[in-house]
Amino acid sequence: MDSQDITCRCGTVRLSASGRPSGATICHCAECQTAAMIFERRFNAPVADSEGGTFHVLWRKDRLTCQSGSDKLAAHKLDPKSPTDRVIATCCGTPMYLDRKGRPWVGVFADRVPEQARPDPELRVYAKDRVEAGQHADGVRTYPGYSRRMLFRRWHAIWRSGFETDHMGFVARDI
Ligand SMILES: [Zn+2]
Ligand SMILES: [Zn+2]
Repeated sequence: MDSQDITCRCGTVRLSASGRPSGATICHCAECQTAAMIFERRFNAPVADSEGGTFHVLWRKDRLTCQSGSDKLAAHKLDPKSPTDRVIATCCGTPMYLDRKGRPWVGVFADRVPEQARPDPELRVYAKDRVEAGQHADGVRTYPGYSRRMLFRRWHAIWRSGFETDHMGFVARDI
């Protein structure tokens, strides 16, 4: 099966993602925007586009492994009780992926995915929180909240083959 290297900016952390991504979503939710602002300030690592959208490439958790640098990975939470971790490579301050407990996929920050393997975004979600209103010229379907149909299809595809919904086990600490 094909696999992709997902590396941090300095190359210490190397994840391997096998198979094809499960989706590609630009999220405009308030949490992603807050996280993007924090990451830009704290790590000089912009993850959002000019309209506040963060592009995630979704990958099944059971197809992601850590090849090197797992001791450098730390979970950033906006709220200590949040089920969502944003995992940072602390060697160089690179946001790697978003890991929500209960979901069978992680959202890899798109600029971590090698360009030739990076899919085009399928849809924009939580566009009601978008920084600037208006039409997008890029033709990506836009939803005010989440697309339930898309969520259902994604779950259904994964359901058939068994899945992992807990946080990725190789991230040992919080930041
Ligand atoms: Zn690094
Ligand atoms: Zn979001």
